[in-house]
Amino acid sequence: MSRQKKILLPESEMPTHWYNLNADLPAAGVELPPVLHPATGQPVGPDDLAPLFPMALILQEVTTDRYVEIPEPIREVYRMWRPTPLFRAYAWEQALDTPAQIYYKYEGVSPSGSHKPNTAVAQAYYNKQEGVKRLATETGAGQWGSALSFAAQIYGLECKVYMVRVSYDQKPYRRILMETYGAQVVPSPSPDTQAGRQVLEQDPDSPGSLGIAISEAVEDAATREDTKYSLGSVLNHVLLHQTVIGQETIRQLEIAGADWPDVVIACTGGGSNFGGLAFPFVRENIVAGRKTRILAAEPTASPSLTRGVYTYDFGDTAQMTPLIKMHTLGHDFVPPPIHAGGLRYHGMSAQVSALKEAGLIEAVALPQRAVFEAAVGFARAEGIVPAPESAHAVRAAMDEALAARESGQGRTIVFNLSGHGHFDLAAYDAYLSGQLVDYEYPQEAIEQSLQRLPQVD
Ligand SMILES: *Cc1c(COP(=O)(O)O)cnc(C)c1O
Repeated sequence: MSRQKKILLPESEMPTHWYNLNADLPAAGVELPPVLHPATGQPVGPDDLAPLFPMALILQEVTTDRYVEIPEPIREVYRMWRPTPLFRAYAWEQALDTPAQIYYKYEGVSPSGSHKPNTAVAQAYYNKQEGVKRLATETGAGQWGSALSFAAQIYGLECKVYMVRVSYDQKPYRRILMETYGAQVVPSPSPDTQAGRQVLEQDPDSPGSLGIAISEAVEDAATREDTKYSLGSVLNHVLLHQTVIGQETIRQLEIAGADWPDVVIACTGGGSNFGGLAFPFVRENIVAGRKTRILAAEPTASPSLTRGVYTYDFGDTAQMTPLIKMHTLGHDFVPPPIHAGGLRYHGMSAQVSALKEAGLIEAVALPQRAVFEAAVGFARAEGIVPAPESAHAVRAAMDEALAARESGQGRTIVFNLSGHGHFDLAAYDAYLSGQLVDYEYPQEAIEQSLQRLPQVD
């Protein structure tokens, strides 16, 4: 009998609804603290967020409905690449000589090469519905900017992308992809905004950070009538849109006849691909008494879940965004310029943070050389070159597989391969030529940033 390598779903089995974890958090005894206004310290209401987001997304941010229907026009765009394949990693299992069964969900088949269009398309759609003409956003590695440029183009919206300086310099092809989709791209910090000028005055050579770029995009949207802001991770509505990933995966594992997974793994920058894959499994743990371990993999260079504190902080460097209770390294923490640009963020999704605080998920921090070692091994066995961000999940899955070999016990491992690394070959070049270095962030530097946290009781 031939072994089934990839498990595909027909378009007719694409999920019709997004899954909202917030509906099931009370059953787990987890409370999501309110988001606070940066000036007053009071919980924000829909009107406070209206300058930045369309009302449909603000309502999704706070809804407690368990399922939110995906509008048919969004499903139609999703069908360009969804459902995405689930693969069984037979060759990699053999290379690792592990008794574990490894499955990976592959989100790199989307037009821009990652999971991010799952929310970019939804966000562009709702903005278009409400008459918005232009979107402003930031991008780290370029994945989010590419996704939003693609989605904005579909709906005839203008798109301005503030791209973190270090990525702008390292990844010209990401910029060209965004421009091909019709977006305007500037390096951040930029002279186009107050927030950008402020940083440039103090440090003309600033490598930038997601926190700084977010400040610029938020300011752009807040100061223009025709423009709204769009965020590629962190917020509840973003994670909501990503839950098509986990819902499809559960169905595909069923078709494969797989055992219910022992461990589910994804990398975490702001938490969206992690939430997307993991939340439907978290629900099974909460309501069906399953015992799946849920593991977040982050870089040692930006270790918000493993070394940050759980407290209220700004989402951006210029302190313009609402305050979110989350695992944070401090809003002015500038992570070292590692190649996984999409993981260089000081904070974490409120939902993912609350799960970590409640002990419902685990987290591990990984240095980039070990991450690339795993990614190269994976590419040589499975053929797909992982994005440096996704490679953190690859490494964590590899460590689980090696632990299974060590103990001689099988286990079922599922991880999210959140994107491909075709635009990240400079990073692979650095690894292959022995030039990658590991970054362990000095504790005192983290503590210095944490001293500047906002005071909230
Ligand atoms: C942006 C990105 C990430 C990190 O963002 P999350 O919101 O944490 O998912 C991970 N993988 C890829 C491929 C990305 O583009």
